[in-house]
Amino acid sequence: MATFTTHEHDVLVIGAGGAGLRAAIEASAAGVNVAVVTKSLLGKAHTVMAEGGMAAAMGNVDDRDNWKVHFADTMRGGQYLNQWRMAEHHAKEAPDRVRELEAWGAVFDRTKDGKILQRNFGGHRYPRLAHVGDRTGLEMIRTLQDHGVHKGITFYMEQTTFRLLKDGDRIAGAFGYDRERGRFHAWKAKAVILATGGIGRAFKITSNSWEYTGDGQSLAYHAGAELLDMEFVQFHPTGMVWPPSVRGILVTEGVRGEGGVLKNSEGKRFMFDDIPDNYKSSTATDPEEGWRYVTGDKNAKRPPELLTRDHVARCIRREVKAGRGSPHGGVFLDVAWIKEKIPNSQEHIKKKLPSMYHQFKALADIDITTEPMEVGPTTHYMMGGVRVDPDSQMSPTVPGLFAAGEVAAGLHGANRLGGNSLSDLLVFGKRAGEYAAKYAKDQKPVSHLESEIEAIAKEALAPFDRDPKEGPYQVQYELQDMMQDLVGIVRVEDEMKQALAGIAKLRERAAVVGVTSHREYNPGWHTALDLDNLLTVSEAITLSAIERKESRGGHFRDDFPAKDPEYGKFNIVLKKAADGSMSLRRETPPPMREDLKAIVEEQK
Ligand code: FAD
Repeated sequence: MATFTTHEHDVLVIGAGGAGLRAAIEASAAGVNVAVVTKSLLGKAHTVMAEGGMAAAMGNVDDRDNWKVHFADTMRGGQYLNQWRMAEHHAKEAPDRVRELEAWGAVFDRTKDGKILQRNFGGHRYPRLAHVGDRTGLEMIRTLQDHGVHKGITFYMEQTTFRLLKDGDRIAGAFGYDRERGRFHAWKAKAVILATGGIGRAFKITSNSWEYTGDGQSLAYHAGAELLDMEFVQFHPTGMVWPPSVRGILVTEGVRGEGGVLKNSEGKRFMFDDIPDNYKSSTATDPEEGWRYVTGDKNAKRPPELLTRDHVARCIRREVKAGRGSPHGGVFLDVAWIKEKIPNSQEHIKKKLPSMYHQFKALADIDITTEPMEVGPTTHYMMGGVRVDPDSQMSPTVPGLFAAGEVAAGLHGANRLGGNSLSDLLVFGKRAGEYAAKYAKDQKPVSHLESEIEAIAKEALAPFDRDPKEGPYQVQYELQDMMQDLVGIVRVEDEMKQALAGIAKLRERAAVVGVTSHREYNPGWHTALDLDNLLTVSEAITLSAIERKESRGGHFRDDFPAKDPEYGKFNIVLKKAADGSMSLRRETPPPMREDLKAIVEEQK
């Protein structure tokens, strides 16, 4: 018999990033008993890394901004595959969520007249990102923690959930282990909110932290939830490329928002060469106009460096492939050039981009106030994820299972606009907390689940009983290499089919990897347990990407480089079939409400 400690709560939140903390605060305020489990320390969730800001149409810098423009921008960025109801909630509610964060103690940068300052970001028509220098995520987490710590929430830190528990069809909690001692825990709960973040670690080059192994998507899938839009992975155009040990670390879009320009090895601003038709009317065609936009001229058009991320990433890849890249396989990002335009530019850059200044100084010995950076695309964000009801955030197929933040799908469609994630966490974290508390209040306590738990514990310990001839790391590396090469920024059918076959082989190997030593702080064992999550999300991404025979948003097919209107009519949904295989179907979303359609047309 496996030994484990049982905990009981009304609502269990898995994940202590922005979405998890916001959800926990809301659920707790509704008077239910709430716990948060996180596999890292409190304060270390990935949200802390967010730099540029959170998008909310407050109109503080440009009073032409309002929720309708934000809604239309989000839909256009997502290529109209977004769940429009979520985009509507997000655009309408984000300003209140930002102000609420301020009321709870967040200290935002300010306009001259004392309002929350908002900055430019790709795809947003007006300056819209509320920010704190380039450390917005840190301020968000600090504020939510400071506020949440007084709400009577129980926190379990450095504990990884490994499976969701079910009581018949409904959710009943989660099972996992503490990373330090390897002891088992069962958290029984009437409602579970997944807020576990993204999947970046399925790829070799990523801006994502070690936590992003697709746990929530995989836990939900195995529990019967559907996954949506999994082909849409965002490759951010600017990650560090040198030195190798820091490859993939993010260089915030804020650098381009502050006037940074992209150049190839010939010194040319290559982004002027390829401006998509639907952005022609809003994009500057000469550098002077782009600069005027950066400095706040409301009548100027934005520079082409601020086009959507998928487009900028592909332009960079094109330059590198054509032999016009930087010495280490990227291109140059130059913000130092603004010394031609403003006095004290070095101090200005250090003030606006303090983390970037320190990041490049410490990691690459580059002073960004005087020399250009080398940058290239990096796997950054997952638009797809757990399918949820747009109002409540509950899975339509698993009663009691909610998801919010990056683990959930729907808001961003085929591509996310920068800054729309942090506001997503607040808007939908709050909604998930509210609805999960309401749901939990109506439920009876969950039953005894001892035999189910016993089977899961046995599965978790299996790697210790196997021959450690092959450990988990080789399987993990090969998967990351394969996803990067065959299902990365540019995709073709043959390569993705090769990847699918490769994933099946790696799955066989993962099923027999062995680990040595004991359960106390054993990262090899933890990695062995992560493999199923990485393989599940990799298979989901690949299957969906094969099915979508067109290019749209974050998904680019070299064999189908154009957007196909037929493919714009449906989303791709995945579900675990009765025989354990991954089943796929196309689903036409409900037609957009007439008033919202009119907004989209008007804003075009
Ligand atoms: P996270 O903050 O990642 O939290 C996930 C939590 O789940 C963690 O606590 C983790 O420990 C826990 N967890 C995961 N698996 C398990 C498990 N099995 N058991 C228990 N706990 C688990 N977006 C913006 O809008 N604006 C920006 O400026 C911006 N900048 C960014 C900069 C960088 C460098 C990166 C990488 C991303 C940036 N993003 C930005 C994206 C944004 O930061 C993320 O999408 C967002 O923070 C995700 O928040 P979350 O609450 O969903 O998940």
